[in-house]
Amino acid sequence: MITRRKLYINVKNLLETADIEPAAFEASCLLESVYGVPADRLKTDDATECTDEELDLLQSKLERRIVGYPLQYLVGSWEFYGYPFKVGEGVLIPRSDTETLVDFILEHFKGETHDKQSGKQPVIADLCCGSGCIAVALAKKLNTRVYAVELSEDALFYAKENVALNNADVKIVQGDVLSARTAESLPTLDIIVCNPPYLSIEDMSSLQDEVSYEPSMALYGGEEGLDFYRNIPPIWKNKLSDGGMIVFEIGIGQEKACSAILSENGFTDIGSRDDLGGITRIVYGVMRRTEE
Ligand code: GLN
Repeated sequence: MITRRKLYINVKNLLETADIEPAAFEASCLLESVYGVPADRLKTDDATECTDEELDLLQSKLERRIVGYPLQYLVGSWEFYGYPFKVGEGVLIPRSDTETLVDFILEHFKGETHDKQSGKQPVIADLCCGSGCIAVALAKKLNTRVYAVELSEDALFYAKENVALNNADVKIVQGDVLSARTAESLPTLDIIVCNPPYLSIEDMSSLQDEVSYEPSMALYGGEEGLDFYRNIPPIWKNKLSDGGMIVFEIGIGQEKACSAILSENGFTDIGSRDDLGGITRIVYGVMRRTEE
């Protein structure tokens, strides 16, 4: 008979053999997704025998994982900024790098309390919201309304689920961020945050196995990966309040190009931030309207 503990060990060993690391962590995640019970309890359970259905389900997840199918899709949910997000095929998996955007915006508002009654809350839009991870994290942390814009039906399905799951004040707007009509449908904004598709043609030709299962619509940003950085500012800059800020996530090596685009569009105070891996991950700029 195979007990839950034995199953955990088998799964961990098979992942290790397939060079999937960290194997112990992934084995825990896969078992939890089958049993809905914390891995610590499963790993020590040498009494409960696994049923054939459980073994079959785990076997099929393991087979897909070994060919590079993302762990997060197999588990069906993933954490971002301490909040749970449902994920599956058709939506970009939240990345820890993207937490840099949330950190930066929270820092920007540090010390300000946003009381919904006083009406002094910032108005934020998250363009290309995908799973809704940035919008939800900001809405929760800042106690404010966030508009989340997305075009993909598949991604919208998850965004809606995630807003409900986290009970966040996020208004989802279905639309193309590259259309002026979408911008017109939103109120004046204090912050525009955007993690657009930014991979180049070259990046797309050498995707990591896992990433190749993610929607190319969420990854591919035109030949140089810069299409959204070029096209969003002209459409959206007039939606920003005086002193309002745009914050983009960028890919490796895109800082100079993205900063130049913001400057050409009249943004000032342009700056950047690195992620925890030391890669420049965000570029931001402020829109000031008052003449000095
Ligand atoms: N950060 C993702 C990656 O490197 C790309 C996501 C995006 O284009 N916004 O795979």
